[in-house]
Amino acid sequence: MNYKTIFEPFRIKSIEPITITTEDQRNSYLEKAYYNPFLLDSDQVMIDLLTDSGTSAMSANQWAGMMIGDESYAGAKSWNHMHSVIKDLTGYHHILPTHQGRAAERILYTLLGGNGKTFISNTHFDTTRANIEYTGAEAIDIPIPEATHPQEIHPFKGNMDIEKLEEIIKEKKPENIGCVILTVTNNSGGGQPVSMKNAKDVRSICKKYNVNFFLDCCRIAENSYFIKHREKEYESKTYKEIAQEMFSLADGAVMSAKKDGLVNMGGFLAIEDEKLSEKCSNLLIITEGFTTYGGLSGRDMEAIAIGLKEIFEPDYLLYRIVSTAYLGENLHKMGVPLMLPIGGHAVYIDSKELYPQIPVEQYPGQALVCELYLKGGVRAVEIGSVMFGKYSEKNKLIPASMELVRLAIPRRVYTQSHIEYVIEVFEKILEDKDKVRGMEITFETLFLRHFTAHFKRL
Ligand SMILES: *Cc1c(COP(=O)(O)O)cnc(C)c1O
Repeated sequence: MNYKTIFEPFRIKSIEPITITTEDQRNSYLEKAYYNPFLLDSDQVMIDLLTDSGTSAMSANQWAGMMIGDESYAGAKSWNHMHSVIKDLTGYHHILPTHQGRAAERILYTLLGGNGKTFISNTHFDTTRANIEYTGAEAIDIPIPEATHPQEIHPFKGNMDIEKLEEIIKEKKPENIGCVILTVTNNSGGGQPVSMKNAKDVRSICKKYNVNFFLDCCRIAENSYFIKHREKEYESKTYKEIAQEMFSLADGAVMSAKKDGLVNMGGFLAIEDEKLSEKCSNLLIITEGFTTYGGLSGRDMEAIAIGLKEIFEPDYLLYRIVSTAYLGENLHKMGVPLMLPIGGHAVYIDSKELYPQIPVEQYPGQALVCELYLKGGVRAVEIGSVMFGKYSEKNKLIPASMELVRLAIPRRVYTQSHIEYVIEVFEKILEDKDKVRGMEITFETLFLRHFTAHFKRL
């Protein structure tokens, strides 16, 4: 089209009201939630940017698919549909349905992990790391050096550091590597894309040392968008062809369909190797369900099959990436420090830069998350030392490499005026940013503490 406005390529058929709250109400809600927005009720939130996971709006077609979902225990038609779409997309021979991404992760990493094993990724997502460490294995993140400098521009900031990959494989010995995981796009690393060239380099090193290579492919369609527009050789390929080529490089993939599957629940594990897939099937049957439904209802599988096709529509992907960038670019113009360039599913604010007065031990990201809620009823998530911090033996915080706050954009849910509102909330955040103080953790758990931790303001 010859117009500069790119509008949402859909009409709204069914709506969900938003409860409007005052700052006083939000003050008391947040206190009762121990200053952790994960503990808020959703109707206390106006614009929910906590996650893009499972929060997508389904299409009329997907809802129609729900009605014809086949709920048979074995051999459901809806499974055949989901299986054929995933087979066509990934090319892998063995496909197992799971109730969400982490179920696929738990099955695969339980089998590949254990004491003495090492997993290597551009950046392990939080559930990925937790599932690996739970088996006794270690998880090492090796994003390219540019990835940890929020303001530095690089077209594929999600790439893995290839030299380090080879060094670590040699140092740990190939037989001790659980697998190499390329997360596309790199969620915890700022939603940044991975280039096809990088995926090819990872593959050749994994081949050279005979090490397993898996994709964490939750956002493979968004990643394909960036490849088509930033990697010259791919400009005339379709998004789906690009995704297919990337799958062809790996030995398998885990997917949370709650992202680019455009559904509220679901996932899968896809594997080329027959022996490994047999072992995975056994675990699947013990904890998830029979191999033709995993943890899913027939209607969920039908919706996934349709969603995985819709996600590759060019008008959708254009709107998706451009609308996320719109939020990021406007915040950038106002002087909000953020991760550049803007990733696919979210805008990541650099809270350390925004609040230089707050030391990392006092969690500047958590402070920003609370400010966003108090000032605007906007819910975001800290991706910094609350999520990834560790303690030394002397109980001192070993901080994460960055203190980010993620504004994740649910797919097909919010309109431009919702986003304009979020931009306005940031104007208020900038006005009194010097007065904001840090937070202290008053309660925490050993794994994934960010979900349940309690905080107090200092
Ligand atoms: C969401 C996500 C997962 C886990 O998937 P769930 O469906 O939430 O269990 C794994 N990896 C990445 C990159 C993700 O974004």
